[in-house]
Amino acid sequence: MRFKPVSILALSLFCLPFVMPAQAAHGLASLNAKEAGPDFVVQGEYVGTIGEKAKVGAQVIALGNGAFDAVLYTQGLPGDGWDGKSTVRLKGKTSDGVPHFKGKNIQGTIKDGQFTGSAENDVRFALKKIERQSPTLGATPPPGAIVLFDGTNTDAWSVGKIAEDHLLGVPAITKQKFDNFLLHIEFRTPFMPFSRGQGRGNSGVYLADQYEVQVLDSFGLEGLDNECGGIYKQAKPLVNMCYPPLSWQTYDIEFRAARFAPDEKTKRHNAVVTVRHNGVPIQYNLELTHPTPGGNRADEHAGPIFLQNHGNPVRFRSIWIVNRP
Ligand code: MG
Repeated sequence: MRFKPVSILALSLFCLPFVMPAQAAHGLASLNAKEAGPDFVVQGEYVGTIGEKAKVGAQVIALGNGAFDAVLYTQGLPGDGWDGKSTVRLKGKTSDGVPHFKGKNIQGTIKDGQFTGSAENDVRFALKKIERQSPTLGATPPPGAIVLFDGTNTDAWSVGKIAEDHLLGVPAITKQKFDNFLLHIEFRTPFMPFSRGQGRGNSGVYLADQYEVQVLDSFGLEGLDNECGGIYKQAKPLVNMCYPPLSWQTYDIEFRAARFAPDEKTKRHNAVVTVRHNGVPIQYNLELTHPTPGGNRADEHAGPIFLQNHGNPVRFRSIWIVNRP
């Protein structure tokens, strides 16, 4: 009996739908939940109980090809009950269409939006998938606010293009300069399961074009000064409030520019910022001692709002600003 040669092309086509080589997939970004694949449905936030009635939250992070990290938070999710201290980490792998998770003395599975399993001494846990929404999402601009972007045009921007679905792409720079203000801005990081670190949903909101409030898909990570809501090398967020990729998130930022002596050169006071991320204060009256890298100026005077292009399709919508004395 003779075997027919199988062409390499036929073999690779056959294998393609099952495993995407990580190298080829690196940088792949989905902008639409419907096209994001089965791992997207599994990743996200879960809440429920462990043992008798102890509250517990979980964040499940997609790592590509059916692999996941999961972080359990005692007493609830970050910003919603977590004590800020205790976490339990699990590694997840999909087999036969079901993600199985394992950590030290703990294991579980996710099926139909339910994360169930057992910890030490056969203590059971059961969590349900949820989608949190920022309390300031869709906030109406107050009287006197300047609407910088509402999906209809880019008239307020010297640089800026409307992307798909009436959203604002990156980079973008306002025409107007601002010094003391309240800024409301809504952003969405893409689903990039094969990417890691600074290559995963990176952008940034630059205040006065010189201090970056980081935008990054740091969902489920530690919350460092180069992750979402961090001020690079100056302050990590008080709590990591990053929602899963493709969720709409909000920053409500109060900013006061640095104050100078009449010579306009001698600095009397540092710039000060308060950032609420998805409604929770993550930087509070923080003095910004110096501009962060990547902005277009560093004189600490008034400047435009700059939305960073870091090569990832981060999107923005509903942006307004209120000038303050
Ligand atoms: Mg950035």
